[in-house]
Amino acid sequence: MKKTLTTLVLLATTTINGLAVDMSAEINAATEKILPQVVEWRRHLHQYPELGNREFKTADYIEKHLRRLGLEVRTKVAKTGVVAILKGDLPGAVIGLRADIDGLPVTERVNLPFASKEKTEYNGSQVGVMHACGHDTHVAMLLGTAEVLSKMKRNLRGTIVFIFQPAEEGPPAGEEGGAALMVKEGVMDNPKIDAIFGIHIDALTEIGKIKYKSGSFMAAADWFTIKVKGKQTHGSTPWTGVDPIAVSSQIIYGLQMIVSRQSELTKAPVVITVGKINGGIRENIIPEEMTMAGTIRTLDDQMQKDVHEKIKITAQKIAESMGATAEVSIETKTLVTYNTPELVEKMLPSLEKSIGKENVLETNWITGAEDFSYYRLKAPAFFFQVGGMPKGKNKKDAAPHHTPDFYIDDSRLDVGIKAFCNIVFDYQPMAKTAQISNNDILSRQVSVENYFPKQFFDVPFQPFGFESVFSIRQSDKGF
Ligand SMILES: [Zn+2]
Ligand SMILES: [Zn+2]
Repeated sequence: MKKTLTTLVLLATTTINGLAVDMSAEINAATEKILPQVVEWRRHLHQYPELGNREFKTADYIEKHLRRLGLEVRTKVAKTGVVAILKGDLPGAVIGLRADIDGLPVTERVNLPFASKEKTEYNGSQVGVMHACGHDTHVAMLLGTAEVLSKMKRNLRGTIVFIFQPAEEGPPAGEEGGAALMVKEGVMDNPKIDAIFGIHIDALTEIGKIKYKSGSFMAAADWFTIKVKGKQTHGSTPWTGVDPIAVSSQIIYGLQMIVSRQSELTKAPVVITVGKINGGIRENIIPEEMTMAGTIRTLDDQMQKDVHEKIKITAQKIAESMGATAEVSIETKTLVTYNTPELVEKMLPSLEKSIGKENVLETNWITGAEDFSYYRLKAPAFFFQVGGMPKGKNKKDAAPHHTPDFYIDDSRLDVGIKAFCNIVFDYQPMAKTAQISNNDILSRQVSVENYFPKQFFDVPFQPFGFESVFSIRQSDKGF
């Protein structure tokens, strides 16, 4: 059965234009060989996690491994990022492979010999640090990929850019960071990357499986604040003032009307959550002001733009109808993580031959967000998930990401390495076709640029430039 599958895939790759050489057997053997080492790297990284823009020891560790492989290494990219370049002996396209490297302010509760005991200061308080999103596995898998590909340099076409990106979970308050800063610092331009790929481990997907979705995959995350101003008065005579608490409660209801009555939910989902509301000091005083804050999740660029507009109109008009004012501000944290359909379609056989067709599963939208989304402003992109849940475990019993009990079974980190390596070899003969999807991206870029209102950017708005997107204000919390 397996043999038949391999033969089929081989036929598929060799008939594209005669240039493809199937390297999967060699890739698999090389990966299996280094797997115990990759697991060791992962466990070391897991034991010593660091927060975003503070990944100093992590970056040193990565750098040391990449230098050992003889790669061209750049450090301090976007603060603590590391970028390595591998040139194959044969000419070809430039492929970017990305891993994020930061941990989270979470205290680990899993009983493991390599559990994190690290502590640090975060927003003025002492916190535990943990790789509670599995970025340690991403680093290990990408280091493993660099190792395998370095040894296959003779047969390798084109250039591979290994991107170890800091602060995916968001930089500390007042700092820039993450994918947006990597792009701003030119990681996609020098050399110019033709296609970029990224992996996220998933604690709720069984090991040995890959999950993917073509087109929009993960949500754009925006944070909003609505400040409602009324007129302070005695609690016994509301008609002598303007009650901002009553206005706010209507606005919260109105926001859900945007989701349930005004969004085309068969096109893509929309989530609006008010997570914080503050105001008032005493039972019999109607206060002057109320502030609420929340998050918006959308999976379509146009819908994101529309929801922004509707939130403003809803808040302002409800406030106005009651004699109050509402000030709305929206910060974009990440864009929609969009997988270029043509690229997904072309690379799917590479994923299938890595672990078997039956283990590559199409999945649904995710309303979580990823700053990998910024790379697609510069090149076609494909981001997919690799399973990290122990075999046979019920998904309901597995701890979600960002929690103290988060656990990854690292026995199948080979999946990510095989997937990356097969993609690298199979992409090359397709590079010419993939250029078409670059045009698609360029047109999407213009639309993204057009719809972000001026106030989201700290620099003058450039309607058809790329730069403005990267000045989106960022804050210290995760997405
Ligand atoms: Zn995370
Ligand atoms: Zn993550």
